[in-house]
Amino acid sequence: MDKDMHWAARSAKAGLRSIAGFVWPARSILTGERHGGEGSVAPEDFAKLTFLNGGGCRSCALPIAVELGEASLCGACAAKAPKWDQARAALAYDDVSRQAVLELKHAGRRDGLSAMSNWMALAGQDVLADTDWLVPVPLHYQRLATRGFNQAAWLAQGVARKSGTLALVDGLSRTRATPSQGGLSARQRRKNVSGAFEVRKSRAARVKGATITLVDDVFTTGSTLTACSKALLKAGAGRVNVLVLARVVRDADITI
Ligand SMILES: [Zn+2]
Repeated sequence: MDKDMHWAARSAKAGLRSIAGFVWPARSILTGERHGGEGSVAPEDFAKLTFLNGGGCRSCALPIAVELGEASLCGACAAKAPKWDQARAALAYDDVSRQAVLELKHAGRRDGLSAMSNWMALAGQDVLADTDWLVPVPLHYQRLATRGFNQAAWLAQGVARKSGTLALVDGLSRTRATPSQGGLSARQRRKNVSGAFEVRKSRAARVKGATITLVDDVFTTGSTLTACSKALLKAGAGRVNVLVLARVVRDADITI
């Protein structure tokens, strides 16, 4: 397609979007309210999000008071390193970002994906530069059948598009259905998901020796990401990183 055609196609698309916006104003992924602007986040709501922008502890993305350059670690990671190498988060998981996650996860709204994937691609730029495959945290096939989609796979595909990285959406599988982590303590969460993941045999050759970035919507206690990292390392992954949309930063937010 030459330049003019590109322009024509783009302006036609933009025209359709504005007609759609006129007929049916955009609904904010943060408040659920319809708003007059374009896109999935109302301009006045944007400032309510707490962006972590890939900062904080290098190993777990927890905000830390003083950043000491590239080697910054929180106390917990300095005492005991996670199974994965580096972790990056786009947002703090709070009352505002929770709404966006719920719209994605339970309502299956895809219109916020472009913005979310962009935030994640920016937050994870350094780890993405070395990533061979983006691998989403998988759902058990029964839950996938009920829900019809895996929001982590949507995010992995979105980040792949934004960053030019490759996604291996079926790299991992969940070998047993695990009860929801909601309401469980950190210890119960670990036990609940321990050994629940494995690298698919058909994907083993791609994982072996590769740098994998695990993708999920929310980093709560890290128990699911730990179980996934163990499965990837067991299958011979060279290195595992973590990239999430939102990271719980206060114990009070461990509700999902
Ligand atoms: Zn840490």
